[in-house]
Amino acid sequence: MALINNKEPFTYSHDFPKKWFRLAKLWFHLKALWRWFRVQKPVTKLIGCQYQAADDLIEIDITYQCNLKCNNCNRSSAQAPDKTHIGLGDITHFVEDSLSQGRCWRKIRVLGGEPTLHPQLSEILAELYRLKQVQPDLSIQLVTNGYGRRVNKVISELPEWLYIENSAKLDSVQPDFGPFNLAPVDSWYHRFSDFSNGCDIARTCGLGLTPQGYYPCAVAGGIDRVLNQKNGRQRLPACDDEMRDLMKNACGLCGRFRDGHYVPPKLRPKILVQRTSNTWVNIYQEWESDRNR
Ligand code: SF4
Ligand code: SF4
Repeated sequence: MALINNKEPFTYSHDFPKKWFRLAKLWFHLKALWRWFRVQKPVTKLIGCQYQAADDLIEIDITYQCNLKCNNCNRSSAQAPDKTHIGLGDITHFVEDSLSQGRCWRKIRVLGGEPTLHPQLSEILAELYRLKQVQPDLSIQLVTNGYGRRVNKVISELPEWLYIENSAKLDSVQPDFGPFNLAPVDSWYHRFSDFSNGCDIARTCGLGLTPQGYYPCAVAGGIDRVLNQKNGRQRLPACDDEMRDLMKNACGLCGRFRDGHYVPPKLRPKILVQRTSNTWVNIYQEWESDRNR
């Protein structure tokens, strides 16, 4: 990006100039108040839910295996590590359901966990490419942590048509992450919230397809994995299925529900350690004991 007047460039959607800091702070403070009010049960009952999952965007968590163990990972790949991979058959079903429903995807993001660790990554990409052949402007993206020799070797062999989003992580401390494991259900502030309101992630990232099925967002699928409920829809839901039942289940546990919308990292406290509220402590303990049974 070109420099303007020798100053640092900035992106309006993710950042703002320093001189607007106070204004931005006030704006996001007001947004937080509106969010709280908007998700209260009577308000939701009166005017409906705040967010709805986009029906032309999807994130596919192809594995929960990861070679990093980041604090506050919103797929629990660090807190409840396992090597669950999505089956190739699930991807084939997704492609076939998309074609038969005439779904016009704008963006498909392949992630996890660390997606390059899936043993059938190239077969998965070949299946997804069938959709791009029908719809050339579809963007298929792979989101990787770019960490370690094995991951980087796979990255170097990926096809040219694939867009690669490489976060180039170096260790498990991710100061700009949100406190995923601070469950809203543990906070008095959300005592009267209706969790089926979801959050902005469902709108901006779209549906989630995970090894457990389809969810209103991939984060919800990751929560369902550790709860071991297997509540996801088993085939691609129709556009009019808002999956509110799955939001109600997951969003009360998801730290992302607290803000509800994007807040620039400059306005959020840095998070240097794992933060876990009581409900999540119990969920991970139960997950661990189920695994050892
Ligand atoms: S790299 Fe991503 S998936 Fe892996 S532990 Fe970190 S945040 Fe989770
Ligand atoms: S609050 Fe969490 S689980 Fe609910 S829609 Fe947002 S990201 Fe998904």
